[in-house]
Amino acid sequence: MKILITGGTGFIGSNLSKYLINDGHTIFCLDNNFTGNLYNIKTIIDNKNFNYIYHDIINPININDDIDQIYHLACPASPPKYQADPIYTSKVCYLGTLNVLEFARKKKAKVLLTSTSEVYGEPNISPQSEDYRGNVNTIGIRSCYDEGKRICETLMMDFHRKYNVDIRIARIFNTYGINMDRTDGRVISNFINQALKNRDLTIYGQGSQTRSFCYISDQISGLIKLMNSKYIYPINIGNPIELSIKDVALKIIELTNSKSKLIYLPIPEDDPTNRKPDITKAKNILNWEPIVNLEKGLLKTIEYFHKL
Ligand code: UDP
Repeated sequence: MKILITGGTGFIGSNLSKYLINDGHTIFCLDNNFTGNLYNIKTIIDNKNFNYIYHDIINPININDDIDQIYHLACPASPPKYQADPIYTSKVCYLGTLNVLEFARKKKAKVLLTSTSEVYGEPNISPQSEDYRGNVNTIGIRSCYDEGKRICETLMMDFHRKYNVDIRIARIFNTYGINMDRTDGRVISNFINQALKNRDLTIYGQGSQTRSFCYISDQISGLIKLMNSKYIYPINIGNPIELSIKDVALKIIELTNSKSKLIYLPIPEDDPTNRKPDITKAKNILNWEPIVNLEKGLLKTIEYFHKL
């Protein structure tokens, strides 16, 4: 198949590109490397079935080839990166998704959007199931991303209803692993960097807030299963094992044999207190659930960061 991946040089996009190339597909990888990096695709960039196109998704897409499937991943996704230029983040969400959907309609391609658990905002229920409508601040520092992804979902559904575009919507929860940008400011990358240098691990707030971390290979298999399913509504793809941020810090110190200690810094505005996906739908509809446990996934990620 001919598959377009927007955001193809990013953390998830590059892992997906590698997987799909190895599976015999032709890949069109679109990225302007705003947060992606050509380093992530260095092992496939010369593959005859891999086509890298430098392109900013806020502009219309122009590819002559037929395209069967589109994985629309393009968007800065770590809080420091999407907050660095919040107006650009909103544009990437709205204009980017509009451009992808116009292109999908023209090519009669199936399109999968990576939405986010952030559409649930500060959740009043746990675990979060897909029918929970969320509790999002429209005017906060995270809103460009949270509201941005909500409008992406709306556009997806409207192109489906109005033009019958074949859509898939993945709500992805925190994901980590090989090809993560070590400077992205996310919790796993910060803690591993700090632990490897025996520096204090920076806990924001008391560290009692929770997240649920999915290893990249599990995330990729979930996205591919969703793409190849017939289910058009949003579906959570994440690991339901929930941990406090303090426990994540202690685990990383243990696994790196680090001398680091913990320091406590102010919690960022609107930082969600909890995140835990209800993956009943993914289990029942996609026959998918994560198989890589946190310790194994962290050890692989630590090894990757160590070698960089
Ligand atoms: N966090 C932290 N120390 C760091 C980076 C992040 O305590 O050095 C916290 C952050 O406040 C949040 C959680 O870890 O509660 C996850 O943050 P991340 O930026 O990875 O992603 P988020 O889920 O907030 O989008």
